[in-house]
Amino acid sequence: MPAGTTVFDDEIPGVANLGPDLLRALRQAAADAAEGGVELLIDSGWRSPEYQSQLFRAAVFEYGSEAEAARWVATPETSAHVSGDAVDLARDAAAWLSVHGAEYGLCQIYGNEPWHYELRPEAIDHGCPPVYADPTHDPRMEQ
Ligand SMILES: [Zn+2]
Repeated sequence: MPAGTTVFDDEIPGVANLGPDLLRALRQAAADAAEGGVELLIDSGWRSPEYQSQLFRAAVFEYGSEAEAARWVATPETSAHVSGDAVDLARDAAAWLSVHGAEYGLCQIYGNEPWHYELRPEAIDHGCPPVYADPTHDPRMEQ
């Protein structure tokens, strides 16, 4: 994904292939963040299964085992990026969402990934759920 990508960049597959509800929430948040002078830039959004597989293999190489890699990178079968349900935000954007995200149903999911956000619509009324320490604690990753 090119540097400087925003949630409005429809011509970029990593943005265009995000789930419509997630994209809508991100765009609402981005419009409000912009009023506060913060641009909601994203580092990664939707990923193809092939690309996710590459990332996972690279992580296995880097961390030395599949078990350790799984703390940081999901497989294509389990990744919320592959299903279009997650975005990784640039630092300023993540900082803004850490304060305001729940108003839009946008929540940090993992304690070790402050940049990774997913849609949790119930957060609008109830706040974001507690974070998992890392993805290996997420029941969705057990496949
Ligand atoms: Zn992520």
